[in-house]
Amino acid sequence: MNNSRRQFFKQALGVVGAVVAAPTLLKVLLPSVAQAQGALTFVEPGKGMAASVGYVDDKKKLDKKDQIERAGVKFANQKCSTCALFTKDTSSVNGKCALFPNQLVKPDGICRSWAKKPN
Ligand code: SF4
Repeated sequence: MNNSRRQFFKQALGVVGAVVAAPTLLKVLLPSVAQAQGALTFVEPGKGMAASVGYVDDKKKLDKKDQIERAGVKFANQKCSTCALFTKDTSSVNGKCALFPNQLVKPDGICRSWAKKPN
């Protein structure tokens, strides 16, 4: 095989390898790029701090014994989106909670630390 033919096959093999590897590389790299850009994950009920404060992503799932009036506010009017610690995320209906920095909570979620917004 002469040098130019060998060179051609080397380059062709490199192109085929790149085409085959590209989808796998994208799958591996895109989630880490999203995380590096600050993509937030949801608080997981039952784990860590969420377990400590009894966070649930839907207030209907809260233990009946915790469905109580707080700070003069009936349970029916309590949920993350009405909590003093909730800040609405500008890009979605979800929000951030001061108890869970760098994570999202559902607006209809709740926990035992629900706090009344100041008047
Ligand atoms: S403190 Fe408030 S915003 Fe945070 S999880 Fe509990 S109810 Fe939701």
